[in-house]
Amino acid sequence: MVVTVSLIPIPYRIIALTQERNSLLDYSAERLEGVIKEIGFRCDGCAQCCTRAFNGHVFLLDRDVTAVKKIDPAALEPAPRPEFCDQNGIFYDSGYALRTKGDKHGSCWFLENKRCRIYDQRFTICRIYPYMLHREPDEKGKVDWRQISGLNEHGEYNTDIPEEDCRAIARETKEYEEAFLQQEIAFLEFMNEYFKKNKLRHVQKVYDDKMRRFVKGEPITVQVFYCGRLEKHTVVPE
Ligand code: SF4
Repeated sequence: MVVTVSLIPIPYRIIALTQERNSLLDYSAERLEGVIKEIGFRCDGCAQCCTRAFNGHVFLLDRDVTAVKKIDPAALEPAPRPEFCDQNGIFYDSGYALRTKGDKHGSCWFLENKRCRIYDQRFTICRIYPYMLHREPDEKGKVDWRQISGLNEHGEYNTDIPEEDCRAIARETKEYEEAFLQQEIAFLEFMNEYFKKNKLRHVQKVYDDKMRRFVKGEPITVQVFYCGRLEKHTVVPE
């Protein structure tokens, strides 16, 4: 049986994420450096990674949301698939994602002619991609550390990456993954208190019903977690 993650009690999810973060901290940066060196990935400018068709949505850390708000606030949208929906039909989302343009590949808002038009200011996840460091199942269900996203599906391989670059990428990747987990934990801790204080609870049936109507064109209200508070949005289907 597949358990919808929103149905797992929040305190258990906080414990699981805290364990994941501790496990990440134990993962040796030298091991990641070795993987980076061995794979020798180099971007070939195909720009696939900046599209939703290839990569799903680009989730942003709070510090990156702050940067987007200064560069172009229209580039922000609540991340797809909010985590919770209360009995009154209000959704709660752990953060923002980069908006896409609505073309057939779902190109990032900032992508122009296969180039990032804010390259020097690009966001944390954009800087470390395709490196990653989290545990997830492969196609056979075996859970292990994943270090490269879209391996062999884009870019060049077996290129020579200087040692100091490998070290810097490994350090930044670990920092990003830790910040991401910390943000998720902070969101769950906040929601646990917020639901208790306001006598709210997640109701999966309301979530599913509202989502069905959303797909047919009905707007939804989404509260997005950002810097320790909630920001309210009305989201209309694209
Ligand atoms: S901000 Fe730039 S690097 Fe990041 S996904 Fe968008 S186009 Fe790509």
